[in-house]
Amino acid sequence: MDAQVYKSDLIFTKNDKEFTSMEQAYLVVENGKVLGVFDRLPGKYESIPLKAYESGFLIPGFVDLHLHAPQYENLGIGLDEELLTWLNKYAFPEEARFSDAGYAEEVYKEVVRRLWENGTTRSVIFGTAHKGSTEILLRLMKKSGLGAYVGKVNMDRNSSQELTEDTERSLEDTEAILDAYRNERLVKPIITPRFVPSCSPRLMEGLGRLAEKYDAPVQSHLSENTDEVEWVKELHPDCESYAHVYERYGLLRQNRTIMAHCVYCTGSEKELMREKGVFAAHCPISNTDLTSGIAPVKDFIAGGVNLGLGSDISGGHTLWMPEVLVHAIQVSKLYYLYKDKDCGRLTLPEAFYLATKGGGSFFGKVGSFEEDYSFDALLIDDCAIIGQGKRSLEERLQKFIYTGEKGCIIKRFVEGNELGYTER
Ligand SMILES: [Zn+2]
Repeated sequence: MDAQVYKSDLIFTKNDKEFTSMEQAYLVVENGKVLGVFDRLPGKYESIPLKAYESGFLIPGFVDLHLHAPQYENLGIGLDEELLTWLNKYAFPEEARFSDAGYAEEVYKEVVRRLWENGTTRSVIFGTAHKGSTEILLRLMKKSGLGAYVGKVNMDRNSSQELTEDTERSLEDTEAILDAYRNERLVKPIITPRFVPSCSPRLMEGLGRLAEKYDAPVQSHLSENTDEVEWVKELHPDCESYAHVYERYGLLRQNRTIMAHCVYCTGSEKELMREKGVFAAHCPISNTDLTSGIAPVKDFIAGGVNLGLGSDISGGHTLWMPEVLVHAIQVSKLYYLYKDKDCGRLTLPEAFYLATKGGGSFFGKVGSFEEDYSFDALLIDDCAIIGQGKRSLEERLQKFIYTGEKGCIIKRFVEGNELGYTER
């Protein structure tokens, strides 16, 4: 039995309504899973080794449901453009560089190190269309001990010349990766059609078949920008909506598909997403940076759609999930003020839930300290930001989310393992 007891202040969200906070509580972990949290340590656990953290507090690790690792070098660049121009001018030329394995190795090492540093213990990642560089990313993520889904991007139409794939080759490369990594536990492949405009019907059909054959998850983009939505209508006039195109090709897999953005989803699309258990990855910083819009997250919550948060670098300019979380709250306040007074505003417990248990549920029992959840955690040292006087644990978490920085994270755990990853 591999077991450990942690004594610390703890704060997490079992649901999106409120925080659960416990001062100097006991959290018992066995084989990477939480056995329970207790105010007093039950006698049966007294023989287990104990680590006590007298200052600081433990929170679940952050989950980033949507990011493009190969766009890391472009962070902060080109954000006066809107989506379709930005893709051609910035994203595609940078991604084309990943045909070079040496370049991929350099950039991806840095991305993995940054994810570790920022306390993003689980992430769902777009690579590029290149099989070789995607395998490099899979290998580096595995070495880091962080949890992830990593996708080789598929794109065989309406892309730059360098990135446009041969349809059959795209499917073969995807299948080779699915096959090679099918038994991995913590870092797994995910089928990744870039978005409808980049994928021919034959490609999407083939990917749908592979998803079925390998019982694989799927990620893509949905209704990010109004020009994009119009374009999809022109390309697929016979489909009821953008989401229904994915549905037609078997790419909305029950509880196993992530769709990034979902800013302009119609009522019937939201209903389809709810039925299929599709996870919407809300990427508020990217949606503001690229002037895309504000996703109606409170509608998604009210409608029972699965929801998490994404940094969407480099449409978004930061990997720091607390900033994504704060931005999600801020844009929901603007949406409430200027668009819909009935929808309410995102609260801090709701946004924190989305950044931990909400997104984490795509991975299974991840993102909480409830029984049987993976012990994915961050130890936060808030001495430098707490100020004078005593604060409640909830106030200390608020201060960390709004004013903290990555230097406040002093330990990171995934499935019970402390990750001391520092390689550059
Ligand atoms: Zn994206």
